Amino acid sequence: MARNPSRQARSAAVVINPIKSPGEQFKPMFFQLCADAGWADPLWLETSEDDPGHGQAKEALAAGVDVVIAAGGDGTVRCVAEVLNDTETAMGLVPLGTGNLLARNLGINVTDPVAAARDVLNGTETKIDVLKATLDHAEHKRIFLVAAGLGYDASIMADTIDGLKDRMGWLAYVESGIRNLPGKPVTARITVDGRNEIHRRVRGVMVGNCGKLMGGVEIFPDASVTDGLMDILTLAPQGKLGWLAVILGVFGKGDNKNDQVQSLTGKSAEIRLDHPQEFQLDGDHLGPATHLHVTVDPKALTIRMSPPRIKKH
Ligand SMILES: [Mg+2]
Repeated sequence: MARNPSRQARSAAVVINPIKSPGEQFKPMFFQLCADAGWADPLWLETSEDDPGHGQAKEALAAGVDVVIAAGGDGTVRCVAEVLNDTETAMGLVPLGTGNLLARNLGINVTDPVAAARDVLNGTETKIDVLKATLDHAEHKRIFLVAAGLGYDASIMADTIDGLKDRMGWLAYVESGIRNLPGKPVTARITVDGRNEIHRRVRGVMVGNCGKLMGGVEIFPDASVTDGLMDILTLAPQGKLGWLAVILGVFGKGDNKNDQVQSLTGKSAEIRLDHPQEFQLDGDHLGPATHLHVTVDPKALTIRMSPPRIKKH
C-alpha cells in the first residue's frame, strides 16, 4: 500500500530488465526513494524474453502512473518509448546497460542507478523528438531515439574508433582491419523530404536523432533531439584508405567532411538499396532490409529528468 494515500501522491512504474538489475537492494531502495519524495509505492514490473517491455509499459500506462521508468539497456528504453510516445505519460531512465545511448545524449547519470532514479523523481519534464521507421513497407512502424543504421553501422563504427583511440599504431589497424570489414558497397537512393538528394554506392547509411555514441564519439555533432529534424549520413569509402577518409570525415566535427561522407537533414527520408543490408535500430539488430522509410515525430515523447541538459535549437 502507498505510504502516502493522498490522491495527489504521484506514482511511478519501474519496467526493469531483471538480468541487468544492479542487485537485490535496488528495489527496496527505490521504494524508499519514492517514500522520501512523497510518492506512492511504485509498480514494479520485470521484463522477460517473451516481453522485453511493451506489455509492462502498457500495464503501467493503464494504471495511470505519472512516470514509467525504463530500467535496463537501450532495448528496454526503446520498448517503453514505443508505448509512451504520443501519450502524455513521461518516461524516466535508469540506465543499466552497456550502451545507454539515449541516456548519454540526454546527460543522464549512467554510472549510478540510485542517483539516476532519484533524478527522475525530482526531475522536470521535457519533450524530445521520436523517429519512426518503416522497414520493407511493413505495416508496423518501429520507433528509435538515437540512431538507425543500414550496412556498416554505428555500433561497429563506435567500437572501432574506441579501440583506435588508445593505439599508437592505429593507421596500421585501419589498413588491416577496416579493409576487411564485412559487407560490399550497395547502390542507395536516398530521398529527403520528397526530393531526390542522393544516388550513389555506399557501405552504410545512418539516420540519427542524436549523435553521441560510446567513448565520447559524436557521429552527428550537430544533431538535436528537439529540432524536429533527423540527421542522415552516408558512408562511401573509396579505395584502400577510404575508411580513413570516412573516419576523418565523420569524426572531424564537420571541419574536413569529404565526398566519402555525406550528411543531410530533413523531416522524412526514404532509403532504397539495390540489395539487402543488415539493419539496426538503437542497437537492436533486425536482420536484412532493402527499404527504410523514416519520419520525425517532433517532441512526441516526454522525458522526466533532472536537470535537462539536452542541446536545444
Ligand atoms: Mg534532430
